[in-house]
Amino acid sequence: MKTLRLILGDQLNIKHSWFIQPDENISYCVLEMRQETDYVKHHIQKVVGFFASMRAFAKGLSDNGYTVIYYEINDSNNKQTLTQNLSQLIDEHAIEKFEYQLPDEYRLDQQLLEYCKTLAIQSKSYDSEHFYTSRNELADFFKDKKQFIMENFYRHMRKKHDILMTLDQPDGGQWNFDQSNRKKWKGKETIPSHKAFKNDITTLLDEIKLSGIETLGNIDKNHFDYPITRKQAISQLKYFCEELLVHFGDYQDAMHTDEINLFHSRLSFALNTKMISPKDIISTVLNYYQIKKEAIQISQVEGFVRQIVGWREYMRGMYWMLMPTYKTLNDLENINELPNFYWTGNTKMNCLKNSIQNSLDHGHAHHIQRLMITGNFALLTQVHPDEVDAWYLGIYADAIEWVQITNTRGMSQFADGGKIATKPYVSSGSYINKMSNYCTNCHYNVKERIGENGCPFNSLYWNFLDDKRQYLATNYRMRMMYNLLDKIPVEDLNNMKKRAQKIINNPDEF
Ligand code: FAD
Ligand code: SF4
Repeated sequence: MKTLRLILGDQLNIKHSWFIQPDENISYCVLEMRQETDYVKHHIQKVVGFFASMRAFAKGLSDNGYTVIYYEINDSNNKQTLTQNLSQLIDEHAIEKFEYQLPDEYRLDQQLLEYCKTLAIQSKSYDSEHFYTSRNELADFFKDKKQFIMENFYRHMRKKHDILMTLDQPDGGQWNFDQSNRKKWKGKETIPSHKAFKNDITTLLDEIKLSGIETLGNIDKNHFDYPITRKQAISQLKYFCEELLVHFGDYQDAMHTDEINLFHSRLSFALNTKMISPKDIISTVLNYYQIKKEAIQISQVEGFVRQIVGWREYMRGMYWMLMPTYKTLNDLENINELPNFYWTGNTKMNCLKNSIQNSLDHGHAHHIQRLMITGNFALLTQVHPDEVDAWYLGIYADAIEWVQITNTRGMSQFADGGKIATKPYVSSGSYINKMSNYCTNCHYNVKERIGENGCPFNSLYWNFLDDKRQYLATNYRMRMMYNLLDKIPVEDLNNMKKRAQKIINNPDEF
């Protein structure tokens, strides 16, 4: 039966059972489309990264005897939407059956479900064979529960997949070494740089320019730093194991102006496009740990395992459990606009300036910059979660809705009222000063709350707690903060609230 199989841009999984061997009756289609480049304004490196990886994947398949139909963005027969392109291909090639892998985005899942209903030929969907868990496994795990605690799910995953376990006990005698993952980096440990990939993106960049796709951010065509093939992703993983894993846990929450990524793996783009799987990564890291056990502490390895086996699978499961309502949640009733400096980096606040400029230059920022700098400021200034989502979904090369929205709307903005995070991730300047060197050269004084030089995060923090008392004061994890707020003299609080309001009204002046 003549079959057409769709491969989406984030389904570049050569280990999928579709690719055991070529079959002359099966054609695969890979489609660059305005539908995917235009639903939000994306970072130029994200568009280049996706298209370059899709092209490399399609070429690899063709070289190995698979029939591949590839639409480049400027091809004259490219209809630019998924359903129009599929219908054209089905007609042109007299296709008798259409098959696809389950998308990870709700938007595409619905589009394909609806499309298949209209087809006169057979259709079938397959699992993407990428994650540890199936789409609904987390929902089953939390069935009848009122709270969806990540730690409970993570322990279940460790047991189920026998990861860092000895019989039924966690290696190292505890499940979680989070407490030892909070060191400030002072430049002592060296971080050898990764050998750059030699991917020529000149032609692709010209094509994107010609197509008229609107993008954001910067790109240096001589230093495009994302892996675009499985081989490159594996080389990045090897570099992580050999050079970074040894300090991963220690400096997980650290930030520094000289080292943008510190000991983070930067594997998220390769993972989210499925060039490499979470199982590939975990087994490589655990093998490496077995060999180097004397040199690497368990806290470093557990910290990393928790991100991939815990947080990543958890976010995906929560997304499928809570969509589509999740996308509309705004429990804290925030209404403000995102400051313009999020798109330019033009602010005197050094922590924001650095985190945003890195994001514009690289299409990447590590977790704590996303959570405790840009996310923190957006929440303290009470920005509408739609605005925050659009920024995160556009600016990061690894941003795909299932993992972006759960982290942004949920973990960072508390717009789900605590389904993902048990308390809002907000802080004053002192946390930022504790974990980074940003405050050293900042225009503002991190020790001051009010006055022209007072760190904006300080007044905003107490103002936020006061403004959101009705939503947060009963949260047991916020009790201590509300006790502290209640001890602040009324006049001091009023002065801070005045300054906070000034910042909220005109953030671009700060
Ligand atoms: P490492 O620190 O080396 O961690 C290893 C891997 O663990 C990552 O590659 C990632 O796959 C996984 N991981 C770590 N933390 C998380 C998490 N909270 N949720 C899911 N997976 C995690 N991650 C994305 O992949 N796409 C996004 O669009 C995205 N948006 C985010 C938005 C906000 C507001 C926040 C706070 C976090 C977001 N994250 C997102 C999670 C995390 O910041 C990135 O996965 C991480 O920074 C990627 O860099 P890395 O590969 O060096 O990660
Ligand atoms: Fe950021 Fe405040 Fe520190 Fe400046 S002083 S870097 S604004 S936390």
